[in-house]
Amino acid sequence: MAHLTNTAPTAELQALDAAHHLHPFTHAAGLKDKGARIITRADGVWLQDSEGHRILDAMAGLWCVNVGYGRRELVEAAAAQMAELPFYNTFFQTSHVPAIRLAERLAGLAPEHLNHVFFAGSGSEANDTNIRLVRTYWEMKGAPQKKAIISRWNAYHGSSVGSGSLGGMKGMHAQGGMPIPDIHHIDQPDWWSEGGDLTPEEFGRERARQLEEKILELGEDNVAAFIAEPVQGAGGVIVPPDSYWPEVNRILDKYDILLIADEVICGFGRTGNWFGSETMGIRPDIMTIAKGLSSGYQPIGGSIVSDEIAEVIGGDEFNHGYTYSGHPVACAVALENLRILDEEGIVTRVREETAPYLKKKFESLADHPLVGEAKIVGMMGSIALTPDKASRAKFEDGGALGYLTRERCFANDLVMRHVGDRMIVSPPLVISTDEIDLLIERARKSLDEAMDEAE
Ligand code: PLP
Repeated sequence: MAHLTNTAPTAELQALDAAHHLHPFTHAAGLKDKGARIITRADGVWLQDSEGHRILDAMAGLWCVNVGYGRRELVEAAAAQMAELPFYNTFFQTSHVPAIRLAERLAGLAPEHLNHVFFAGSGSEANDTNIRLVRTYWEMKGAPQKKAIISRWNAYHGSSVGSGSLGGMKGMHAQGGMPIPDIHHIDQPDWWSEGGDLTPEEFGRERARQLEEKILELGEDNVAAFIAEPVQGAGGVIVPPDSYWPEVNRILDKYDILLIADEVICGFGRTGNWFGSETMGIRPDIMTIAKGLSSGYQPIGGSIVSDEIAEVIGGDEFNHGYTYSGHPVACAVALENLRILDEEGIVTRVREETAPYLKKKFESLADHPLVGEAKIVGMMGSIALTPDKASRAKFEDGGALGYLTRERCFANDLVMRHVGDRMIVSPPLVISTDEIDLLIERARKSLDEAMDEAE
């Protein structure tokens, strides 16, 4: 059997990587100068790199390894499914057991009125599906002019042309012809960076009302849907003020506009409930899922759709689908992952034990001289670095200290991500209290070192 286990020296692998491998969201120059970090194995919350370091992964890979690394049950589920039926499609009136069982399971987990799943290979693909779903829904309801979709600046909904357009990452829009037509953005509810003199609650309402202003500007009969992450993840873990979502709900109801809750990060226990919509009090018409659905062990995503939308769309053939929609191996692994999350009580433990513990420890970082706000929901949190807490000031060379801190974290065998000058954690949901202590200890040490180095 061909083995991909590393036996080559790190430098050789790095040189090959820089020579032939184009990476997502990575500067090629960095790969040439310093080389990529090469991760070779993982277990629980621990990564191992090609130099033998054991690194605490406080990002669960890319916010996805919810059950932690090294679960044999998932390996066995994949192997058994590969042996039995490695592939078949779900097009043209065919189906197979793993897709049927997973759709049924998801309908049981999702809010009561969401009972239908359209599978995709990723969160990006699922959000592309959502663009077509909501527009087709309104066309079939006799309102073809309802095409506009409203999203938020600094949201992340994926990297395909459709989902990247839904996202509000200006750096992404600057490359390659995005956004596509009829996608509009309003400001995000980031009180720390943009709240000015308003209280968080006033600011939350003000940002929600931008949605109403945008709806009126576009014409209330022209808006198909609003898409949002219950808690923004890749934008820097932006926890909205409590006043935000109730006001958004009120506005969407008033104008009969669909809500797409992008649960790609928030879903499957990350916020302490099965879905972030529950934690934030949201009633979506569609939920985008991926990542924690399979704990990242297989690429899979999907859209869980309301009974109303499924019924309307079902009035005709939906001319849409991916070769890997409902891939049997990915579905089998996702089912086993959901079984583990459920039967081991992982979501409940997060809500009742480990997330409250992490919150207390994480918020204690706010006493560090560099740290302004420290915000966390369940197992996703961020700290804002600032030169002056009282005025919530920003660093002139935005992102440099975040980058430096991330590098210090890595040197201290801890993966934290930086988004500008925000430092993020989103660990595997199985992290223990001892590992949380270690995470916080290493984060504090890294902050101290970054502060010294920056002086
Ligand atoms: N939506 C959200 C909220 C995400 O965070 C991501 C990825 O980070 C996506 C969608 C895109 O998912 P994928 O990378 O699986 O295409």
